[in-house]
Amino acid sequence: MPVTVKTFSTAAEAATALSSDRAACYLGGGTLVMRALNEGDVSIETVVRATDRALNRIDASAARVVIGAGVTFARILAERELAFLHAPARSIGGPAVRNMGTVGGNLFAQSPFGDFTVALLALDTMVSVQGGLGVRDMPIEEFLQSRDRQSGALVLAVTCARPASADAFRYRKIARIKPKGGSVITLAASLPNSGGRITGARIALGSMGPVPMRARAAERALEGRALDASSIAAAAAVIAEGTAPADTAIASAWYRREVIGVHLRRLFSGQE
Ligand SMILES: Cc1cc2nc3c(=O)[nH]c(=O)nc-3n(C[C@H](O)[C@H](O)[C@H](O)COP(=O)(O)OP(=O)(O)OC[C@H]3O[C@@H](n4cnc5c(N)ncnc54)[C@H](O)[C@@H]3O)c2cc1C
Repeated sequence: MPVTVKTFSTAAEAATALSSDRAACYLGGGTLVMRALNEGDVSIETVVRATDRALNRIDASAARVVIGAGVTFARILAERELAFLHAPARSIGGPAVRNMGTVGGNLFAQSPFGDFTVALLALDTMVSVQGGLGVRDMPIEEFLQSRDRQSGALVLAVTCARPASADAFRYRKIARIKPKGGSVITLAASLPNSGGRITGARIALGSMGPVPMRARAAERALEGRALDASSIAAAAAVIAEGTAPADTAIASAWYRREVIGVHLRRLFSGQE
């Protein structure tokens, strides 16, 4: 079936085109969309593109960092100001995928993908979305919970918190094939520290449910405590609470639940 490609110079026009056509699909870097088209996905009749430069902007000058939805992982790796995001960006695919794949597309990637989104969830991110009714900023958790209903909306940018120090943000992806490969588990944690005590930790998990999720019981286990062997053990004991991993070719749900505490302990205690 022929596919129509529509290219717009502004994000607003692209958003209008998307919201008015159920069979339209936005093309970011295309690493997933082009694969779907090449595999014969007939549900996509129109591909919408936008050349709006606002989608490629990075503003890293303030405590909250703005990254346009069209920014690629290769670009993030080239930005010294975004060093805290280099580990998640580097964990995605190989060089070709990192050259094309975008932050916006990653928000929609199904498990075992979506690693960068796990990092964004730990970093208290707001997602800016343009739909038929205008632009709306929503917390990333709300975005992920309603992701299936977001088709027809255009993500413009994400705004995430910059960690206060290198130690205040941790990231680890467990994969069978290294350096690339689908995630067995992806872990990201923001660990703000006030007077030696953790306050307001955000721990995010990938491949432990249908979409990236917070590990709230483990966050509570750390609250007000120093990050030491005792608090790390307390967090590891409850890290799988509320998760719903799937049995996949990469790993079984049982295995994911069994090993996640081990990887959390290693991540928090700085072990390889
Ligand atoms: C070989 C290979 C290896 C991979 N490895 C990894 C990996 O290790 N980790 C990982 O997380 N991912 C991986 N991926 C998946 C994918 O490359 C990334 O998730 C990437 O971030 C997707 O971004 P994209 O711009 O290419 O998305 P696209 O293919 O352009 O789009 C994907 C989906 O997102 C929607 N979309 C894209 N941008 C927007 C926007 N601005 N607004 C609204 N909707 C939008 C599209 O309509 C589509 O539904 C891999 C893919 C391949 C092919």
